[in-house]
Amino acid sequence: MALLLGCIADDFTGGTDLAGMLVKAGMRTVQMIGIPQGPLPDGIDAVVIALKSRTIAPEVAIAESLEALRWLRAAACRQIYFKYCSTFDSTAKGNIGPVAEALLAELKSGFSIACPAFPANGRTIYKGHLFVGDVLLSDSGMRNHPLTPMTDANLVRVLQQQVKGKVGLVDYVTVAGGEGAIRTRFAALQQDGCNLAVVDAITNADLMAIGAACADMPLVTAGSGVALGLPQNFRKTKLLADDVVADTLPATSGLRAVVSGSCSIATQGQVASMRTHHPAFQVDPLDLARGDDVIGAALEWAKPLLSAGPVLIYATDNPESVKAVQVQLGAEKAGNLVEGALAAIAQGLVSLGVGQLIVAGGETSGAVVKALGINGLRIGPEIDPGVPWTTAITDAPGARPLALALKSGNFGTVDFFTKAWNKLP
Ligand code: ADP
Repeated sequence: MALLLGCIADDFTGGTDLAGMLVKAGMRTVQMIGIPQGPLPDGIDAVVIALKSRTIAPEVAIAESLEALRWLRAAACRQIYFKYCSTFDSTAKGNIGPVAEALLAELKSGFSIACPAFPANGRTIYKGHLFVGDVLLSDSGMRNHPLTPMTDANLVRVLQQQVKGKVGLVDYVTVAGGEGAIRTRFAALQQDGCNLAVVDAITNADLMAIGAACADMPLVTAGSGVALGLPQNFRKTKLLADDVVADTLPATSGLRAVVSGSCSIATQGQVASMRTHHPAFQVDPLDLARGDDVIGAALEWAKPLLSAGPVLIYATDNPESVKAVQVQLGAEKAGNLVEGALAAIAQGLVSLGVGQLIVAGGETSGAVVKALGINGLRIGPEIDPGVPWTTAITDAPGARPLALALKSGNFGTVDFFTKAWNKLP
């Protein structure tokens, strides 16, 4: 069956968030890192192309997003979804507005929505104003974000400053009126010359109504929340079967390992917990800085142990030790050294026959994925909120199937590294 939903995400973890949402809503989904270079696996309903376009220059963001769009159209996707952050992270110049307008123009479409609402995470929109929990966006921590400070909660105003066209509002009274009322308002706004409309949403039921009203839109622009309401449209038209089990992964086998470069509090607990049950090897950044062959030593250590069960290789440490290392080496150098070493260790582990790998740390995961030559991820069952098992999509010659769980910082319960294996097929 052809691809139904083609998504462009403006960053990697945002892409994972959307992909997880689509899987939960019943669509078999892959997340690709950048524009796909080869064919996708069979039996996929949705693809998320993850870019890094949130804070780059608008003209570069537009060019990359259009390239992604052209790929998605060539793959015959029926609807395009532009995914940005639920706090509408953007600079004064964009990139949400400029990218949305460029995609509309390329699709020869005159109208789309803008709706970052994600009620389950406390992101709601009322009268065009975005709330984060109980406070306006402009009173939330986002006010001081180093790259995308959000000092105005009025999304109509924020978006209007980024675009050439006219921005309208579908207010809550209309949204509460349901799909029909929303569609009528879309038509009225278009008549009025608007090409984008911020849409209020407070509950998941609102997202379902908005999703239904967007069934015929070539382009939807939103956070991940609106994705909840789109699969129903494809089911209604029989393009998506009711009985699809979206989170089934191809079976993987092989040895098991955990590589951890996250020093977040949750990860510290998870490392401590796994160490009490399984062999563990600590990577010391100062040894790396001295030029010791830590990678070789870690792999020699792991080789005889792997067949008996999962092993843990970690650089994770408490804040005092990390600080001490950073004072000595510089934070950036320490980070790069550790990321490079853990990525090389992950590569070595896979060569030793590891087929099921957990990586802890956002930056660490990025380094590992790059070192392993992974182009994309098929999204599978959720281990804990926000962390699914995936299988790697790669065109690296001779690559064996690899199950991968990429856990960023503070995600997961304390027994994450030991319980995750039970969720694998
Ligand atoms: P998280 O998702 O928890 O933020 P990241 O992998 O994104 O984890 O970031 C952790 C950073 O800390 C990485 O750059 C990693 O290389 C670095 N790091 C890990 N262990 C140490 C350590 N012991 N000393 C200094 N830096 C470390």
